[in-house]
Amino acid sequence: MQLYKNFIDGKWIESEKKETIKVDDPATGKIIGEIASAKKTEVDLAVQAAKKSFQSRVLVDMPLMVRAKLMRRIADETRKVAKEGGELLCYENGKTLGAAVKEFNDVADMFDYYAGLTDKLEGKTIPVSKNVFDYTVLEPFGVSAHVVPWNYPLAMIGRSLSCSFATGNSTIIKTAELTPLSATIFAKALINAEVPNGLINIICGYGNETGSYLVSHEDVNHVVFTGSVATGKKILHACADKAIPAVVELGGKSAGIVYPDADLNDVLDSARSGIFGVAGQICTAMSRLVVHKSIKDELVDKLVDLSKSLKIGPGIDKDTDLTPVISENQLQKVEGYARSGIQEGAEAAHGGKRVDREGYFMEPTVLNNVKQDMTVAREEIFGPVLSVLEYNDEEEAIKIANDTDYGLGSGVFTKDLKKASWTASKLEAGQVYVNKWFTGNHATPFGGYKQSGYSREKGVDGLKSYLQVKNVGISLS
Ligand code: NAD
Repeated sequence: MQLYKNFIDGKWIESEKKETIKVDDPATGKIIGEIASAKKTEVDLAVQAAKKSFQSRVLVDMPLMVRAKLMRRIADETRKVAKEGGELLCYENGKTLGAAVKEFNDVADMFDYYAGLTDKLEGKTIPVSKNVFDYTVLEPFGVSAHVVPWNYPLAMIGRSLSCSFATGNSTIIKTAELTPLSATIFAKALINAEVPNGLINIICGYGNETGSYLVSHEDVNHVVFTGSVATGKKILHACADKAIPAVVELGGKSAGIVYPDADLNDVLDSARSGIFGVAGQICTAMSRLVVHKSIKDELVDKLVDLSKSLKIGPGIDKDTDLTPVISENQLQKVEGYARSGIQEGAEAAHGGKRVDREGYFMEPTVLNNVKQDMTVAREEIFGPVLSVLEYNDEEEAIKIANDTDYGLGSGVFTKDLKKASWTASKLEAGQVYVNKWFTGNHATPFGGYKQSGYSREKGVDGLKSYLQVKNVGISLS
């Protein structure tokens, strides 16, 4: 079995304690590789490497055109490993090969995008008085630690790392223990791009041990966390203890409102990607549909037909539509949620159970007649389970959609763009998708309202979280 290692200061490092984390293929449950488990020693090494590289000012003082060129080189080298890395990502995460290769290419796009912005970050002059020349400078924080989840192992690295690098920070990534292997292929691209040692370090270890030690480390100046609300709160406490900033991108319970004039094919296309794509393990999954009672039966019938048509199988098979969930634990959790919905009075219009085959497959599930107070309508399921709720008038639809502690994604399906924009103004969420789930890309700001977090990643807005403003006043008198 291949042993993968941590990437620290430009070198491949084993665990001093010789411990490893075994990684399986969710489609079969078979072990596909193992990675050296980073402990305190390796975290210390990674933090010291990042600190040394930051203090050397190799990135901070790099002429910005040169930094931009280096970022474009990282993008090019990442594209070169997209096939190899995508295959490993497909096996360790379970998603389709196409989606996995796309994740590598998305990382490359993010580096290209921020390469174009790194030399356009400008301070300003402030007219204090005729005797003072006052200006601002945008500066990085220093050592930035990024903790990422398993559902988009590469895209989540690319999203935060590209911003962190563009703004001159030195970064340590802690990958998720369920999907750490493909990031080592990305590290190969960093070596090929000749990124100076220590600027980017990638380690893997368990969250409550390695992750918590990393974010609490005295030499870490800035934290980026993408994951669950529960872990996010712990990380915010750790950052509060040190009074350092944290970027937090957390979970969701997103609802799409379907008005009577909606094109139901738009809703079906959105369900295909929004709740059945990546087996529903998406932070902005379209996990609730709030449907006008006049069209609900018709839509539920079509959703059932869609569910029946989905080919269930491993992501590596070309014609697979619905891939496995990440682990046996996750499968039990998702199946438990579906069961609880049925026990609380929802009707399983389709699915509701695990699939009887090897691996961790859940049936595409459509729960009809879901009520707002049911657990399935309130908690993030993170699996291919769609809850359908009914409304009578528009105000009620908005109330149901907003009746959640989360505020990540939301959507509206209608041909009436005036109504769409009225609805968008009422929805309490960082993203509003009109007639198509997932309309954004690397250029569109992404983040949550309420407990889904408060930071923004991607787009020009994303850069703000990685910089601090220094004000300089020069007395001219
Ligand atoms: P998780 O919170 O369990 O783990 C995320 C990461 O945090 C992992 O790397 C884990 O090892 C680490 N971790 C766990 N405990 C830690 C601790 N005490 N200190 C430091 N690190 C710790 O989440 P998950 O199950 O891996 O991911 C799924 C969640 O992520 C879902 O809630 C999903 O909605 C969310 N998510 C959000 C976004 C977004 O952009 N808002 C994107 C992807 C996923």
